[in-house]
Amino acid sequence: MVVMKFGGTSVADQAAIERLMGIVARQREQDAAAADAAPGPVVVVSALSGVTDRLLGVAAEAGAGDNEGARHNLRDLRARHMTVAEVVADDALRAAARADIDRAFDELERIVDALGVLREVSPRWLDTIAATGEIVSSRIVAAALAARGLHGAWVDARQVIVTSAEHTAAVPQFPETTAALEATVRPLLAAGHVPVLGGFVGATKDGVTTTLGRGGSDFSGAIVGSCLHAAEIQIWTDVDGMLTADPRVVANPRVVPHISFAEASELAYFGAKVLHPATIQPAVARDIPVRILNSKRAEAPGTLITANRPPSDLGLTALASKKHVTVVDITSTRMLMAHGFLRRLFEVFERNKTPVDVVTTSEVSVSVTVDDRRRLPAIVEALSEFAEVSLEHEMAIVCAVGEGLNTEPRLVARVFDAVGDVPVKLLSQAATRRNITFVIRETDVPLVLGRLHDAFFASAGAGGRA
Ligand code: ADP
Ligand code: ASP
Ligand code: MG
Repeated sequence: MVVMKFGGTSVADQAAIERLMGIVARQREQDAAAADAAPGPVVVVSALSGVTDRLLGVAAEAGAGDNEGARHNLRDLRARHMTVAEVVADDALRAAARADIDRAFDELERIVDALGVLREVSPRWLDTIAATGEIVSSRIVAAALAARGLHGAWVDARQVIVTSAEHTAAVPQFPETTAALEATVRPLLAAGHVPVLGGFVGATKDGVTTTLGRGGSDFSGAIVGSCLHAAEIQIWTDVDGMLTADPRVVANPRVVPHISFAEASELAYFGAKVLHPATIQPAVARDIPVRILNSKRAEAPGTLITANRPPSDLGLTALASKKHVTVVDITSTRMLMAHGFLRRLFEVFERNKTPVDVVTTSEVSVSVTVDDRRRLPAIVEALSEFAEVSLEHEMAIVCAVGEGLNTEPRLVARVFDAVGDVPVKLLSQAATRRNITFVIRETDVPLVLGRLHDAFFASAGAGGRA
């Protein structure tokens, strides 16, 4: 059985959902032809493109007491979903889907009115509001598949994805989630249905709605695939696969046909938005291949992600970059060599729940990068008790990934040859030597990525957005 996750652009409108149905139908034919003992697929969908951002905007308006603005946006969103529900080609099923949409938006209006009075939106309410996007998109897709004779059956993600109570970044609880999926989704599969659930969304064991963090529908796909021992997890999106660089930064990146789990997770972590960083872990744990595919060009081979991959002669596999990063320089001539200094330093970040990405140390200073600036004033204050602290904003992390970095020492020199005269602030290469990571000014990102891409990938053909 295959799990198919469709991102926001792959369910954006009626035409996109028509394409989705074609892709699901083809998979059903393949399963039937292979006499698959456990046919599927299980379908996981994102909210229609742009909807999560809009819902978070609604929450912000409610928090600011702008009930008119919030209601206006909700009316718009309700109307968009009603229109997209046209795709359900059966009168009774369409009416039922529209009633579901109405119920969800009626409830949102009540919540938003109440929050508008309180003028405060807690993370818990934020999750309930944001989750509505996936709840309604999955209703529409399930009904559309049912109407088309493809046996779509809606599954409430809040009943099957059991998470911690860390709102807006909830952590899945695998034993409970497996049990719930086995009890709910497995019988549907056995009865020949295509279970459809919203990604991104879960609930605590007490039934309080949570979300897995932005981009979390990929994670949902991987959780479902891993708990149900899927044969493959497919991430359907709007590009031909994992590309050698972000297509919004580099012209004509090429598709990486096969990439290792480790390389893909480094790239996802450092900004290759096509995959949620946490996605890979549950898949790796069960050795389940992940495939990134283009829902507008279903025939394109996409990118296969597996534990290991055949060697490639390109040197590097791909590039990624992450902007809006702040470098924190921490200098202490007195303390650095003292026992316990690093512990004290990192405890400050820990207490402020702020992850650091790149870390470098020298005799008298430590430099780290953070991309979450919310707690920086508190962090600087605490660090200043025992060190001098300075900040540099508008910096960016560039990450060049390739298993070859481990085996071919000259690659690092080639990377910096390509970077040329652009000032590099921090530089780090971890023990695994699968990547080389460095920090530059944000404004230098297009130049540096362009140079690196020319040096390592120029001779190859183009891939990219359909
Ligand atoms: P979805 O809505 O399907 O989840 P996302 O917007 O989350 O899609 O991810 C797909 C987008 O990721 C692409 O449209 C592309 O602009 C961006 N992207 C950034 N880096 C890469 C990369 N290295 N390879 C492919 N896509 C990338
Ligand atoms: N809709 C959610 C988001 O925009 C989750 C996802 O699409 O992956 O972050
Ligand atoms: Mg995504």
